[in-house]
Amino acid sequence: MVKLTDFQITFSGLKLGNHKFDFQIEDAFFQLFDYAELSSGQVSAIILLQKKSNMLELDLQIKGSVTLACDTCTENYIESIEGNYKQIVKFSDVLETDETDEIIILPTNEHTLKLAHHLYEFIHLSLPSRRIHADRADCNQEMLEKLEELAFQEPEIADPRWSALQNLKK
Ligand SMILES: [Zn+2]
Repeated sequence: MVKLTDFQITFSGLKLGNHKFDFQIEDAFFQLFDYAELSSGQVSAIILLQKKSNMLELDLQIKGSVTLACDTCTENYIESIEGNYKQIVKFSDVLETDETDEIIILPTNEHTLKLAHHLYEFIHLSLPSRRIHADRADCNQEMLEKLEELAFQEPEIADPRWSALQNLKK
């Protein structure tokens, strides 16, 4: 069983300097999140962590593939994703601190960096804005035909009764 706690780094025992971590993300990972947009994928996350005396610097490399629904034909397809993200972890017990997208603030007595939500977010940031089969020939042709048929049938616009209604509204 995959758990959120499988995706964390206990940094307290690490020596100062560089460390490398490797997380493998599979389908079960996405089921840990409610309303997940993704349900299937094989993604590796390599994390280079530099421990300094007062902070941690992380370099995260995301690489793999996920299943997306094609915008053109609605059928699922496999998309390759890749991304590189930096995070800085600082420590403070002050509640109002300057946490941003790139800066994580942890309490000074914290030993563990929980990364599951961050990895989830980074995978989403790595998704393309246009989600379509790379080759239109790979699209579900039957679905394309149906969609085309629907596009041609827009009877309301030409229907005189509809025009009459539209005129009434004016
Ligand atoms: Zn398609």
